[in-house]
Amino acid sequence: MSWELTKLNREHIVIDSGLSITSSKIASGLINPITGQRFAKSWMYEDLVPVAIETYRELELALKKKFFSEIVFYDMFPDAGNASAFQKKQSQYPDLLSFAKEDEALDRYFNFELGIGKIAPCYLVDLPKLLSGYATKLKTDNKLVTSAIDTTQLKFASGKWHLGEISADRVIFCDGAAAVDSPFFKVLPFNLNKGEVVFVELEAPMPGGIFKNTLKLAPWHGLTYWVGTNFLWKFDDIEPSEQFRCHVEVELQKWLKVPFHIRDHVAAIRPATINRYPFVGEHPQHKGLFILNGMGAKACSQAPYFSKQLVNFIENSSTITREVDVQLSKNLLVN
Ligand SMILES: Cc1cc2nc3c(=O)[nH]c(=O)nc-3n(C[C@H](O)[C@H](O)[C@H](O)COP(=O)(O)OP(=O)(O)OC[C@H]3O[C@@H](n4cnc5c(N)ncnc54)[C@H](O)[C@@H]3O)c2cc1C
Repeated sequence: MSWELTKLNREHIVIDSGLSITSSKIASGLINPITGQRFAKSWMYEDLVPVAIETYRELELALKKKFFSEIVFYDMFPDAGNASAFQKKQSQYPDLLSFAKEDEALDRYFNFELGIGKIAPCYLVDLPKLLSGYATKLKTDNKLVTSAIDTTQLKFASGKWHLGEISADRVIFCDGAAAVDSPFFKVLPFNLNKGEVVFVELEAPMPGGIFKNTLKLAPWHGLTYWVGTNFLWKFDDIEPSEQFRCHVEVELQKWLKVPFHIRDHVAAIRPATINRYPFVGEHPQHKGLFILNGMGAKACSQAPYFSKQLVNFIENSSTITREVDVQLSKNLLVN
């Protein structure tokens, strides 16, 4: 969002509590055209992905950092049903789905029985690198306020929004799961879920790619790999659980041929929504308050597109994609 405003030279600041663990900071950063047990094409993929590619490349140039790459996703079928679903979809999407060949020699690294489906091209965003690089740019440009704000203190007076000493014509909320406590947007149909990640260090390097059976193994830094994840819709706290760590350890011992060591284990809350579409647009009752949120699982492809769309809406009153427009929840938001 901030990058879209920067490109238009719009004066803005970003207020962020600076938490070290957030949903974005622990996400694997995958953009995948074909997802789920039924290997369905991701919603609006053809629209979202070109904008994502363009935006991440612009940001790489602006930040002078490499954090975006093309990658192959290897799906090691966990059961016969999964293998047959892939086979059926392969003829529908031959440009995206294929089978791994023996000379890829993945049996040197993994135990698997039912073959391997390949999904390509996928893309990987190194989110910690992007987010820390962008935070540094904001600091240098004097646009970052590191502080947890109390949204109940945000008041409208004399045509502007005020928070302590800060005044603005507009406020754009991108506060992830914290929105469920927002006095303005908490009534939206969020459906938060908790996701856990275990970071493992391998004793030997892997070939390039993201690998999945029941778990997903994705490159992180050097020999450190990201392993996840789960989706817990009922949770009492935001801490990682012993149960998930044990599950990962047992499953990896069966799956991986390369010895590994568990180095870290973290959890975060995904700002998911009931109908799985993000929330984008202006509060129908509080003019000047906007939201860009609800990207529970596919933020890497959705955030660039809907940030651009929201900026165009603010600047030119252009339309917002029907499914994500917060006006759909007008009845809930207006009281
Ligand atoms: C384990 C896991 C794996 C994932 N894998 C992928 C993946 O491979 N691909 C993909 O596309 N998506 C993935 N996701 C989902 C996705 O990355 C996130 O849901 C998404 O990035 C959410 O971004 P966000 O900015 O809305 O929320 P967050 O990342 O939670 O950020 C919200 C920000 O708002 C700040 N904030 C909140 N309240 C306040 C306040 N009062 N004052 C100041 N600051 C505040 C927080 O500090 C935080 O920085 C994954 C998520 C998880 C948990």
